[in-house]
Amino acid sequence: MKKVLVLEDEASIRSFIIINLRRAGYEIVEAETGEEALEKLQQHTDVRVALLDVMLPGIDGFEVCRRIRASNSRIGIIMLTARSQEMDKVTGLMTGADDYVTKPFSPAELTARVDALMRRSGGGEENGDQIQQPPFLLNTRNRTLEKNGERIKLTQVEYSIMRMFMENPGKALSREEILDLVWGRDYFGELKIVDVNIRRLRLKIEDNATNPTYITTVWGYGYKWGV
Ligand code: CA
Repeated sequence: MKKVLVLEDEASIRSFIIINLRRAGYEIVEAETGEEALEKLQQHTDVRVALLDVMLPGIDGFEVCRRIRASNSRIGIIMLTARSQEMDKVTGLMTGADDYVTKPFSPAELTARVDALMRRSGGGEENGDQIQQPPFLLNTRNRTLEKNGERIKLTQVEYSIMRMFMENPGKALSREEILDLVWGRDYFGELKIVDVNIRRLRLKIEDNATNPTYITTVWGYGYKWGV
């Protein structure tokens, strides 16, 4: 399902947007404040496009945009600006937005903009080339990994381990299973090689390798992607 976040404090405009995007086949995550929007993006990591109103009661749309971009370079961002706010457009694009729509806008215009950005944002899991789990982006075509938009150099084995984890989020994998999945069933090596590679991988991908939060240990069993 193609998911769009709609951040707009005015209820009538928000429901106008939501009705029209639902009609166009989108699933909606809605927020009234910037704080709420950032929180919901943490929960819905599969949101591909965000519509951000500029004028909001708490932190404004630009600040929301800036904070999203600090950790996510993949999501498409469209700013919603009022006609009188010409400068807003410039500022919005500077803070990392991809596009802007000026109020009042027609449903057709809005849908067309979202469609275009949706195509450009590539679609994460859906296009089969990428697995996106912020802050990580795994490209399965050229076998690369990015964290917060920065390339992390991996060996082929490390890449295979990352892919296995990202394809099995939250699932405890035994060391035997990992050995089978990464090295192959006919590899009769020692289980220790799993630990050695994961230790090295943690140094590359974790914020703090001594206190890992992405690749976590399942004591007496194996490892898990996420907590
Ligand atoms: Ca507003």
